[in-house]
Amino acid sequence: MGTDTATNLRRVFFASESLKKQGAKGAKFARVHVIGAGVMGGDIAARCTLRGMAVTLQDIDMERIKPALERGKALFKKRLKSKREVDTAMLRLEADPTGKGVARADVIIEAVVEKLEVKQAIFSGIEDQLKPGAIPATNTSSIELERIAEGLKDPARLIGLHFFNPVAQLPLVEVIRSTFNSDAEIGKGAAFALAIGKSPVVVKSAPGFLVNRVLMPYMLGAVKRVEAGESKELLDAAAVAFGMPMGPIELMDTVGLDVGQSVARELGQAVPAESKFAGLVSAGKLGRKTGEGFYKWVDGKAQKGETPERGDLAGLGRELVQPLVDTTEVVVAEGVVANAGLADIGVISGTGFAPFLGGPLKARADGRA
Ligand code: NAD
Repeated sequence: MGTDTATNLRRVFFASESLKKQGAKGAKFARVHVIGAGVMGGDIAARCTLRGMAVTLQDIDMERIKPALERGKALFKKRLKSKREVDTAMLRLEADPTGKGVARADVIIEAVVEKLEVKQAIFSGIEDQLKPGAIPATNTSSIELERIAEGLKDPARLIGLHFFNPVAQLPLVEVIRSTFNSDAEIGKGAAFALAIGKSPVVVKSAPGFLVNRVLMPYMLGAVKRVEAGESKELLDAAAVAFGMPMGPIELMDTVGLDVGQSVARELGQAVPAESKFAGLVSAGKLGRKTGEGFYKWVDGKAQKGETPERGDLAGLGRELVQPLVDTTEVVVAEGVVANAGLADIGVISGTGFAPFLGGPLKARADGRA
């Protein structure tokens, strides 16, 4: 009980509990409408259904909605005990290609392609149908909220609810606040995240928000070292020895090299055209999803070669996470996140950063990162 690890884990526990205070009291969410039944929208819809909400799921046509319904059913079968519960859940998850669910929904989550004009058109198209008090939210991972809200009659209503992939596993939801929002909309957004069992952290609408912003320099730093000839197996093993759930190169493969490249560009850290990284992207080797990136992938597992011998692996891991810790400090100094405690819990729940160190900033304050 007296060890640093126990103290830090208690701190993380109480910090997670305190996230509950961010939710507006009395907000009720019975109906959710999700637009975009792809990787994210489909899984967000299934999550809300699992939590007892009635969900309508919209996409361009039925063909694109069907796979999401099938994934939903597989999730319900895994998580719910009886066939009756699975069947009832399936009744709550309804395909809705024409968008009739918008007018009844308490929360409308947009998760369509990452294109400004498409998102703008969707929100201006539904604005007049929203019921009073309903929250329109976007799951954009990189577009400034203010730009999406630009054409709306009431831009103060639109918030960001930034989920992480895979939705079923990652607890964090960044509740993105634009300059138009007031505490009321943000409090409701946080309450919704809590209602579906997620951990909300309020983040200002700034490039990369919190998690992508701190992860990118860490992953790119490791990629640069691999390009300079270091062993990717060694770097990944070192990050794990430090306390990360997965090494930075394996993580880049998991996120997808194309996604990584576009987030890097967004953050002004564009990948050089002549790099191995850019070469892999143009060859369509995008990581886990295509079966090859920095690693080859078989049955969802990176095929790793020998890890070279090296003493003080954790020390090397600590060196690798420096850019992540530095950037977390910058994000707090810029006011993107309200305080160091929230940044720590956000980075832990969004990246799995060594919880026993209490998060990047606590670890640095203790001289451990
Ligand atoms: P995806 O390509 O898997 O799915 C997008 C879906 O939107 C497709 O099914 C497409 O048919 C549909 N769509 C396009 N235009 C539409 C329209 N006008 N009306 C209805 N449906 C339409 O994409 P994704 O990976 O699920 O990403 C969706 C959003 O979530 C993007 O904004 C992305 O930046 C964000 N995001 C993605 C991740 C991730 O890791 N994939 C993580 C966080 C956030």
